[in-house]
Amino acid sequence: MKEILRFAVVLLVIPGIMVALASKDSPQSAAQKADLEKWAIHDLDRPLPPVVDPGPAGQPVAAPSDAVVLFDGKDLSSWEDGKGGPAKWKVEGGTMEVVAKTGSIRTKKGFGDCQLHIDWATPSAVSGEGQERSNSGVFLMDIYEVQVLDSYDNRTYADGQAAAIYGQYPPLVNASRKPGEWQTYDIVFHRPRFGADGNLVEPARMTVFHNGVLVQDNAVLTGPTAHKARPPYKAQADRLPISLQDHGNPVRYRNIWLREL
Ligand code: MG
Repeated sequence: MKEILRFAVVLLVIPGIMVALASKDSPQSAAQKADLEKWAIHDLDRPLPPVVDPGPAGQPVAAPSDAVVLFDGKDLSSWEDGKGGPAKWKVEGGTMEVVAKTGSIRTKKGFGDCQLHIDWATPSAVSGEGQERSNSGVFLMDIYEVQVLDSYDNRTYADGQAAAIYGQYPPLVNASRKPGEWQTYDIVFHRPRFGADGNLVEPARMTVFHNGVLVQDNAVLTGPTAHKARPPYKAQADRLPISLQDHGNPVRYRNIWLREL
């Protein structure tokens, strides 16, 4: 009997401990980790993801009944500028458009874990190259950026193209539509967790669909978004605004809603 119990303990407890240790030691999946170690930030040699045609844009996806509607095409009442004043982007024809030099805008309310839906479009008249072609961005918690860029036939570093988690992970594929056409992001975001001592307990995770195509598969973020740097996590609030980037280009947005998880 004793032997059987001992065997049961080995069978049940040891694998459990191993799983716990493995997930503690390697928050990134093995493939993600290897990729991050192999490529420096914004490395121009990092392979570009294959191009996939997502098909034509459909009608805007209606917000589900439990969603918080952040922009329904009418006004920017859910948004403010970076200083807490009124958001100064242009609202016209059911869309909002970046007004260069008025700054990024952010939601008045803060959010943590969420499912975020957002439509965006870059101008059909193409201007600029690489990062200067219709750059904007969707920031979760005002900290973690999913890049918005015209990546239709526009070469830039892989970790900075549309649907990249900027500076960390290129999208799995390039599912961009042509400039001027409406595109969608559906983002599942899990915020990072910190202990009472301020140390990181769990990193942030993101899954992203670009035009309905999976482009980030439970990516484990290395820390906050930065340019030419991958800084470590810093203890932060549990809820922070969603923000949209003013990178000086007239990118449009519409139909923005979010479900808190
Ligand atoms: Mg950007």
